[in-house]
Amino acid sequence: MTTTTTEGSGATSPAVDKAVLLAKYIAERDKRLRPDGNAQYLQLKGQLAHYLEDPYTPFVEREPKTDHVTFAFVGGGFAGLVTGARLIEAGVTDVRIIEKGGDFGGTWYWNRYPGAQCDTASMIYMPLLEETGHMPTEKYAHAPEILEQCQRIGRQYGLYDNALFHTEVEDLSWNDATSRWVIRTNRGDAFTADFIGLGTGPLHVPKLPGIPGIERFKGHAFHTSRWDYGYTGGDPKGAPMVKLADKRVAIIGTGATAVQCVPHLARACKELLVFQRTPSSVDVRANAPIDPEWFADIATPGWQQRWLENFTANQAGGTADVDLVQDGWTDLSRRIRAKISQLPREDMTPQKMLAAYEDSDFEKMNEIRARIDSIVEDHDTAQKLKAWYRQLCKRPCFHDAYLQAFNTPGTKLIDTDGKGVERITEAGLVVAGVEYPVDCIIYASGFEVGTEYKRRAGFDLTGRDGLKLSQVWADGMKTKHGIHVHGFPNAFFVQPTQGANLISNVPHNLTEGGQTIAAVVRHAVTKGYKQVEVTQEAQNAWVELLLTGFGRMTGAPDCTPGYYNNEGLAPGPGARLAVGYPAGATAYFKYIDAWRTSGAFEGLAFR
Ligand code: NDP
Repeated sequence: MTTTTTEGSGATSPAVDKAVLLAKYIAERDKRLRPDGNAQYLQLKGQLAHYLEDPYTPFVEREPKTDHVTFAFVGGGFAGLVTGARLIEAGVTDVRIIEKGGDFGGTWYWNRYPGAQCDTASMIYMPLLEETGHMPTEKYAHAPEILEQCQRIGRQYGLYDNALFHTEVEDLSWNDATSRWVIRTNRGDAFTADFIGLGTGPLHVPKLPGIPGIERFKGHAFHTSRWDYGYTGGDPKGAPMVKLADKRVAIIGTGATAVQCVPHLARACKELLVFQRTPSSVDVRANAPIDPEWFADIATPGWQQRWLENFTANQAGGTADVDLVQDGWTDLSRRIRAKISQLPREDMTPQKMLAAYEDSDFEKMNEIRARIDSIVEDHDTAQKLKAWYRQLCKRPCFHDAYLQAFNTPGTKLIDTDGKGVERITEAGLVVAGVEYPVDCIIYASGFEVGTEYKRRAGFDLTGRDGLKLSQVWADGMKTKHGIHVHGFPNAFFVQPTQGANLISNVPHNLTEGGQTIAAVVRHAVTKGYKQVEVTQEAQNAWVELLLTGFGRMTGAPDCTPGYYNNEGLAPGPGARLAVGYPAGATAYFKYIDAWRTSGAFEGLAFR
């Protein structure tokens, strides 16, 4: 790359020829574009349904529930736990969480693959640390500790007593005459609730790549979110996977999951073949233990809220003098801000600010690519591990052992030049006409994202007058605050979109959502209201406000395909609504705090 001036940006020029780089990005994108988009993936049903079986907790028979609870929540991950906790604090004691897994934890229940750990610093990622008195042991905690935190919340707030595990909701219908929801499940339950919450998570339905011949493979196979320790040996806490010592193993996929488990597989397998379609960008992780003395000093009352606010201010549109968290996300934002602030005052135009933002991204990605050359010994492998796209085209990854794993004897990258695995045979995998026989295939192929809500959730909602949520949201999500939907009284969604939409730290969105819902429910219950519903006008006004924003920050037109950009196909009608509060996450959290503490709950009608 040559050094050139960035045309018109006025910013210090990066050591990069932007035109050449962009042409490379576009060529790499074009290699991967395919007309079938999300349809390239296989839904795990019929012959493939066994990939969904729970390897972690035995199934226990129980009698169906036909009783009544004040609040029923679908999903026992962070969303359900934090909402449940806030409801209990607000005096709503009969909260029933319904969860398809065998325990609380959601994503952390299922994802027990070796090396799984949070990508956002534990101090802000793990919910209710202050309430539970838990000190994270590492800057980026590993999965077993996060699962234990979920269980701790469940125990502390008494959420286990009423929970239904290994239970999938099949139908939720509103009965206007009784002002209650009727909840039906795959375990024969048919119970009622005054209020319902929905926190099913964005990435919980595993998918397989639609590789021809996938069902023919005669060896062992599993998806990373159903890790088969019976086959591999070892355990989620890091015990070595001794049973792989004589095995030739293939892993398909090189996303955030593979980046974390490949180093462990490389250590354990006789041979490991990593099948790559698109490389991830892998930046420095710098994990470290948390020092109890340091923690005791900083953990004064209100500490976690201060840390949350500080991270959001550094990361998403606020201002902060210090950066308490100091991770890859805040680094990214700091660099962008620094680039923009270098612009002369008269150059602070949207166009030039965007160009400065691009410069910062090109520089960052060049650093990430250069890091590969400095770590990976085999030149050819190093070149193939380089990601040729902007950092936010795909989920940025951070790891200090992934690239090094390719220096392990027996670990080999099988790059498919953007085409993916060609075929699966009875004995192994075929790429560019070459068959690679293996004992086991591990699918690190991710989760359904672009499919419709009803398919992912496993149910539709029937609101007032038989209104279906799938119809109301056919052209995209419509809510107030991402929580309330007109036509669906006493129902609350707990997720980031149309609220703060803080993707770098999803739990912050959820804890705020839980607090907001608890305040609304407490108001309804103490005043004796039977129903609470957002008015059509308030919902319309919120949606109009959302549409005044910049739109999505991910998925530029030159991005390589992935779930961030609808697999490279034209965005569906709902994409413009998959956004957050236009003024940014910091402003949203301030706004929602004022909204719920004022007691007026503007936009909601209580009856
Ligand atoms: P991803 O969807 O990110 O990755 C799937 C991988 O499978 C991609 O590398 C994809 O390639 C590859 N693939 C798909 N089809 C084929 C094919 N036919 N042949 C070869 N390769 C194929 O799934 P992950 O499970 O890695 O991650 C999902 C998300 O979960 C992350 O983005 C992140 O949000 C979250 N996560 C978070 C973690 C954390 O916070 N600690 C850790 C792990 C995951 P291509 O890129 O070309 O589509």
